Amino acid sequence: MSDVRTEKPRLIADERLRELARDDWPMRFRARYPRVGELEAGIENDCLLEAIDVHVHAEPCSLAARNQDYTQLAIEAARAGMRALVKKDHHYSTVPEAQAVQRHIDHLVDSGLLARRVEVYGGVPLSFSLDSAQITQSLRFSSFKMIWCNPIDGEPLVRDGKVRPEAERIIALAREHGVALTLGVPGHSRKKYGGIDDYDGLMPLVERVAALGAAAVLDHPLSSFTIDQIERLAVGGIYAGLFCYPSLPSVIKAPVVDPERTRELVNRLGPQRCIVASDVGMLLEPTALEAFRLMIRLLLALGFGKEDLALMLKTNPAKLIGLKP
Ligand SMILES: [Zn+2]
Repeated sequence: MSDVRTEKPRLIADERLRELARDDWPMRFRARYPRVGELEAGIENDCLLEAIDVHVHAEPCSLAARNQDYTQLAIEAARAGMRALVKKDHHYSTVPEAQAVQRHIDHLVDSGLLARRVEVYGGVPLSFSLDSAQITQSLRFSSFKMIWCNPIDGEPLVRDGKVRPEAERIIALAREHGVALTLGVPGHSRKKYGGIDDYDGLMPLVERVAALGAAAVLDHPLSSFTIDQIERLAVGGIYAGLFCYPSLPSVIKAPVVDPERTRELVNRLGPQRCIVASDVGMLLEPTALEAFRLMIRLLLALGFGKEDLALMLKTNPAKLIGLKP
């Protein structure tokens, strides 16, 4: 193995890119993965029952226009039988909004307009400050389930190779109160971080999160790291996020992706250390639920079993955000 720290992560290597673009791809893909031909419409329906999506985007969104608002997304998720959702925004807390959407969902259920409930949650991004009051003041809301570290324009958590004491306090609070962390890459906030390397900038944070025993998920690590690097970052209670980006092609984020990397990551870490989430919803992308369905079908086509999917869609996300199994 080469030096993991200095490996240069690439979404796709040049030789592989040429292979993915060859026009015999459909035949080769189906020959390698015969389950592609066995997929049936709705095959993912029972995987969706009780599934939890810990990273959804919806309107209102401070970053970009989204194809649904949180209420629509929650209604669709409830109809699909999903258990829970956590909405991310890069700049503001989604905790109060989650509580309001939950009220609406419960009203629809009480009125007989929706057959079943979905749990609606939100979180707080560390965007403009590392003042721990933004965390402590959110703790009284049961809809508070996630702290988003290194969002776009986020506040740097690591300085000179060390986790800042304010960030350390927030990690300790997360651990103490059972709030999960999503660990984005420093590159999301390059303006504030300066030219820090993603691996060097994330590792000190990962080490402190693991040492303090907080639950966390890496934010779509396949887009920033090699599989060897991800293996080292997904330690302690830290899961690897297997998000639609970059496992599924997205015209706006990554028009060409390599399904082999998704398979390799799950094989390397084991499904017990991975969490599937949607993380889509821009106007040139499918809706969260449609992307979630595609992701499940892809994982089935790549050869993973329904027990593996149950771990990545239900058991692990429930553990992450502190829901009963
Ligand atoms: Zn996201």
